[in-house]
Amino acid sequence: MSDTLLSVQGVQTYYGNIRALAGVDVEVKKGEIVSLIGANGAGKSTLMMTICGSPQARTGTVTFDGEDITRLPTHLIARRRIAQSPEGRRIFPRMTVYENLQMGASLDNLKYFNEDVEKIFTLFPRLKERQGQRGGTLSGGEQQMLSIGRALMARPKLLLLDEPSLGLAPLIVKGIFDAIKKLNQNEGLTVFLVEQNAFAALKLSDRAYVMVNGQVTMSGSGKELLANPEVRAAYLEGG
Ligand code: ATP
Repeated sequence: MSDTLLSVQGVQTYYGNIRALAGVDVEVKKGEIVSLIGANGAGKSTLMMTICGSPQARTGTVTFDGEDITRLPTHLIARRRIAQSPEGRRIFPRMTVYENLQMGASLDNLKYFNEDVEKIFTLFPRLKERQGQRGGTLSGGEQQMLSIGRALMARPKLLLLDEPSLGLAPLIVKGIFDAIKKLNQNEGLTVFLVEQNAFAALKLSDRAYVMVNGQVTMSGSGKELLANPEVRAAYLEGG
């Protein structure tokens, strides 16, 4: 049996006539943390969204757990247990922390609801303290915790994170990344994350890909890429 969970092959994605992804190949194995780094506008978010089916790939295939999901609608992809914490967190600002978590739960897993909420509160005690507070009044770091917590409520096989460090202070980023590591080590959760914070992402990841202008230009272990002079010059120096 293959240990590949997600396989993206030859994917091209367009916005109208603009080609945002120009033939992307990426693979994530079960139990790995894999990151995708690259500059603004490289196509990182587009790849995340293409995996989730909106926009759909124009050519190429996205395979998840052995099934071709390229042409599935987004809600059916979510039911395959791919959960996303999108760029900008997108929590529900007028709902409480607890209600936001409720929104993430899938009907298939309602019997685990209390257990799952407790797990998330153990991972992010701050969310437990603030469970009655409206999402929109949380700090940026707390909103990121909530966005990840809401995604976890779906009991994902694959967690997609789009720029979890965006706009957060280094200490807060460390807390979030430590939590991701814990989920991976303790629960075996597979994680694919997109980051502009290359240093934090590469340190966390088993493997990583570098994206430039809609194409993957380099890949390797997190350690290899951290030591790579080209990566250092483009993404790490001064960072
Ligand atoms: P960032 O970190 O700034 O979000 P990114 O690497 O995630 O960058 P994308 O957001 O995927 O990059 O954008 C890739 C390219 O697609 C960019 O040239 C962008 O302008 C273009 N693009 C993104 N979204 C749209 C859209 N809805 N309509 C048209 N073009 C888009």
